[in-house]
Amino acid sequence: MRMGMALPVGGGIGGLVLLLLFSMLTGTNPTDVINSSPPSSESVGTTGSESLENDPRAKFVSVVLKDTEDVWNKVFRDHNANYQEPVLVLFTDATQSACGVGQSAMGPFYCPSDRKVYLDLSFFHDLDTRFGAPGDFAQAYVVAHEVGHHVQTLTGVSDRIQTARSRMSERQANQLSVRQELQADCYAGVWGHYAAREGLLDPGDVEEGLRAAAAIGDDRLQRQSQGRVVPESFTHGSSEQRVSWLRRGMENGRLEACDTFGAGTF
Ligand SMILES: [Zn+2]
Repeated sequence: MRMGMALPVGGGIGGLVLLLLFSMLTGTNPTDVINSSPPSSESVGTTGSESLENDPRAKFVSVVLKDTEDVWNKVFRDHNANYQEPVLVLFTDATQSACGVGQSAMGPFYCPSDRKVYLDLSFFHDLDTRFGAPGDFAQAYVVAHEVGHHVQTLTGVSDRIQTARSRMSERQANQLSVRQELQADCYAGVWGHYAAREGLLDPGDVEEGLRAAAAIGDDRLQRQSQGRVVPESFTHGSSEQRVSWLRRGMENGRLEACDTFGAGTF
């Protein structure tokens, strides 16, 4: 990607390997954790650390976030709405959020209660040092996916889903979760659509993003971690679904293309 700063280039595959290993180790989907625990009374731990501010990966994430803001401001304006920008919280090890304690092992996540994107930079540190392959567009996709959840919060989708899920069987709730996650993938694609139009992408970036989406499909993660696939336990969607919705957002560039809830049965 071309974000106007020196960035480690290439290495999407290595990043994916880490994402997979990360999931296998933690048993979580690395794109995010949507946590519905009650708000914590403690304040959110934002970072003022100079080492974080000077970290090129932190700068990269900030630049990606800024670009998502430009895109979503425009898209919301086109719908006669105001985009309220999310807050980025960079942390290491653990931090308080309104959704409870965020820990490194959870990976990046979005908390609808405080409208903040939480990014654990050790996640990106691992991408660099252990595997020597940061995969910048794969990282950007993860950020854009979390921002996608923020968009869902602003549109009211997240609230409606939260309410509906509480009245459902686990299986039905999982299916709804899949639709919500796929929509966030599609929204990440909408951002990618504009990033491509702005000339921010390098050749191969699109493929890197699609590979990332495939790598974190529930089926592939389950096959790797437990050797079998249990579709009714999916919460984020299969590799094929994630690729398909990310691609759809990237190709179409419109909110309306991301109606995963009206898209029939999965
Ligand atoms: Zn998600």
